[in-house]
Amino acid sequence: MSCNRRKFIQNSSVFTFGGLLLPGTIHSTMKGKLPARGLKLSFEAYDLQLKHVFTIATSSRTTTPVMLTKLEFDGITGFGEASMPPYLGESQQSVAEFLSQLNLEQFKDPFRMDEILEYVDEAAPGNPAAKASVDIALHDLVGKIMGQPWYKIWGFSPENTPHTSFTIGIDKPEVVKEKVREASGFKILKIKLGRENDREMIETIRSVSNVPLCVDVNQGWQDKKMALDTIFWLKEKGIEFVEQPMPKEKTDELAWLTENSPLPIIADEAVQRLCDVQKTVGIYSGINIKLMKCTGMREAHKMVQLARANKMKVMMGCMTETSCAVSAAAQLSPKTDWADLDGNLLISNDPYSGMKIIDGKITLSDQPGIGINNS
Ligand code: MG
Repeated sequence: MSCNRRKFIQNSSVFTFGGLLLPGTIHSTMKGKLPARGLKLSFEAYDLQLKHVFTIATSSRTTTPVMLTKLEFDGITGFGEASMPPYLGESQQSVAEFLSQLNLEQFKDPFRMDEILEYVDEAAPGNPAAKASVDIALHDLVGKIMGQPWYKIWGFSPENTPHTSFTIGIDKPEVVKEKVREASGFKILKIKLGRENDREMIETIRSVSNVPLCVDVNQGWQDKKMALDTIFWLKEKGIEFVEQPMPKEKTDELAWLTENSPLPIIADEAVQRLCDVQKTVGIYSGINIKLMKCTGMREAHKMVQLARANKMKVMMGCMTETSCAVSAAAQLSPKTDWADLDGNLLISNDPYSGMKIIDGKITLSDQPGIGINNS
């Protein structure tokens, strides 16, 4: 917490040469010899500046607080991040308190990921973003020790990554049109609905673009018949799916809506962690997985598998985040139907570079770990 952000990041590149292991280096951990010191965790608060005021059904804001983490072991550093949009209940203070109580030095072997992350999860209830900041840093660290990116370690084909949607927040028609024009490189746009002017928002976008759309209502609709009418209208307008149309507590109405809807209905607020996936079967068509909700990459991977076992659609989403957490989520994207990994594109002060969007498609590098560099 004491050093500034540039020094915080630079300190860690001394050993990893910009995130890459030097060629020919055989790491002591790979040879089976463990150093005497365990994992060293450090962290620093950072405020993301948003390019536009971001408005959803329940709030507006211009900044997002995050915590940048580092996990060092035997001269190699993994990077992680916790992002804390205010409506989710975590803060820089709560994350700092959670991370301060952890004793990761007791772990001398970073490959014992289950043991380490179970310890972190059991340290306190809740705190999913704080937990994700350790999980992501550990994955980055272990991937760097192995010299491989996680999509390869998991056995995924990088050409199977989806296009990412780009989110257009609720705003005045002129501003919405401008945002849509700025997003011309994207193959699908995500529109935030859930206010009085839903149809006006869609008509405004359709006046300047025919690109496929998906919509996120953030629980904003209350009546199931009105919701179904709107969804039939949205289908006519080229919308691909609808995210969390009604409050998550209205499970009977949501099940009815999914059964009758001409478009897939995706759970977001209704599904946080692995234990929530089974509860969405028969109520939704699919789930939106976010690292900051589910404590990180390890649990997100399990959620993808469980959703697939139940023949559900999978979407990988994010908060407003740096390229660190977005690139970590992108490692899983080859196994998803849709991705909404645009959080780093919404900010003007990203300290990292990582996963790239090329012609609207998530494009993974072969850099080890989560595939990021200091920018
Ligand atoms: Mg959502």
